[in-house]
Amino acid sequence: MTEKFDLIVIGGGPGGYVAAIRAAQLGLNTACIDMTTARDGKAALGGTCLNVGCIPSKALLDSSKHFHHLNNDYAAHGINVTDASIDIDTMIARKDKVVSKLTGGVAQLFKANKIRQFHGRGRLLADRQVEFTAHDSDEAQLLHADNIILASGSVPIEIPNVAFDGEFIIDNEGALDLTEVPERLGVIGAGVIGLELGSVWSRLGSEVTLLEALPEFLMTADQDIAKQAGRLFKRQGLDIRLGTLVKSAIVEDGEVRVTFENQKGEDNISFNRLLVAVGRKPYTEGLLADDCGVELNERGQIGVDEQSRTSVAGVWAIGDCVRGPMLAHKASEEGIAVAELMAGKAAHIHFDTVPWVVYTDPEIAWVGKTEQELIEQAISYRVGSFPFAATGRGLAMGDAAGMVKMLADEESDEILGVHIIGPGASELISECVVAMEFHGASEDLARIVHAHPTLSEAVHEAALHVDRRAIHRGN
Ligand code: FAD
Ligand code: AMP
Repeated sequence: MTEKFDLIVIGGGPGGYVAAIRAAQLGLNTACIDMTTARDGKAALGGTCLNVGCIPSKALLDSSKHFHHLNNDYAAHGINVTDASIDIDTMIARKDKVVSKLTGGVAQLFKANKIRQFHGRGRLLADRQVEFTAHDSDEAQLLHADNIILASGSVPIEIPNVAFDGEFIIDNEGALDLTEVPERLGVIGAGVIGLELGSVWSRLGSEVTLLEALPEFLMTADQDIAKQAGRLFKRQGLDIRLGTLVKSAIVEDGEVRVTFENQKGEDNISFNRLLVAVGRKPYTEGLLADDCGVELNERGQIGVDEQSRTSVAGVWAIGDCVRGPMLAHKASEEGIAVAELMAGKAAHIHFDTVPWVVYTDPEIAWVGKTEQELIEQAISYRVGSFPFAATGRGLAMGDAAGMVKMLADEESDEILGVHIIGPGASELISECVVAMEFHGASEDLARIVHAHPTLSEAVHEAALHVDRRAIHRGN
């Protein structure tokens, strides 16, 4: 017998589980199918983000940051520690506890919202039917719904001749579960994931080398910010080699030998472990029956319109498996918007104001356009900036590297982009997102009272500096 629902969500990551909760709040009889299994054999909702992405990486970034500060920065505060050590098993166990608390929390939210949870694989058939196969059985069960959301997420990209073996050549999952600090860690790709996970192991004592094919560092970020970041990361000991294209890697005698090509030609380098962090691709394996009608585009993404509708009526797709940035908050907001649309409400997402964050130390965060984009698009702008080194709070904290850079339209003064590298950048960016959502001008932020002493004063001063009237710097 086919079980019927108002909505079936396939995928329980931040896209899928949030969509399911919002739909249930709106009174839809909702089911969510997710196949992730925790080490204890139980379902683990939350997708990549909670299990092997955002959350565990931040847990390890925080642990390693404490250790790094203890060894390098506390002496300036008069705190002296000798022979500080880190117990990797305890650090990893703490990370696992944070993850299971959150995945368990989502399961509780499902119960509280009366969402039916199916642990196993879902496959979209024709006529909004879904075939469900439980994680521990081969028997398929048929489900049907008026609406279906595909939220199957993404998986790491594997490059030719660099095959993951789970031990020496690893992906993000492996790098979040190392049992000891590798003496030399190679990272292919100096993007967000490579930088974050490279930072974790570097702070714990690993000699980390990042091999990046592109000639410029952090090309998606504003280049003023990227340049500062490059300098600061180098000072921290990260060896970032740009213009270095990895061609192959082999494991021999307990080491990974990586062959790469740069301006000087072909060369090789050996590591104890190699993390491949060259990006992620949409995951749609086994998701779509041949006759389901949903099509993939040339990038392997599920094709959707601006409101996340696929070409099949009643079938929607959100998150990493569709166009747009692969970010958890983007997936969640799409989930909420789709649930509201199917419940007959109005909903929209402004892709232009999705914030980006890199959780290195210092953090990097931005929203809107970069200066290079404004130049390319021939948009006239004014720029203001302010260094954290001129904020009382940054100095008092002993954490004052970096700056805020604000770009505003030359005529209207509307804020077009804000770029931050510095302490608390991940939190400070929210004020700028709000300002941009309201089509705010730099003048608006300049006239808002910011508490003293706070890091947010750097945002305030950068806004003042757009009009060359910053107080605590020359104009
Ligand atoms: P996913 O989270 O990938 O979830 C998809 C779920 O669907 C998975 O559980 C999968 O098993 C399941 N699934 C797939 N197919 C089927 C099927 N056929 N049947 C049943 N279940 C299925 N983003 C941020 O915004 N901030 C960060 O700090 C951040 N850090 C990251 C760090 C790392 C190391 C990584 C790898 C990613 C990070 N991301 C971060 C990206 C973020 O994790 C993703 O953008 C986000 O998880 C996408 O959500 P999603 O719901 O689309 O997919
Ligand atoms: P991101 O897209 O932020 O996850 O970053 C991935 C990075 O990996 C990009 O900057 C790519 O240029 C880089 N990259 C991809 N393939 C290779 C390769 N074969 N060798 C070195 N870097 C690569």
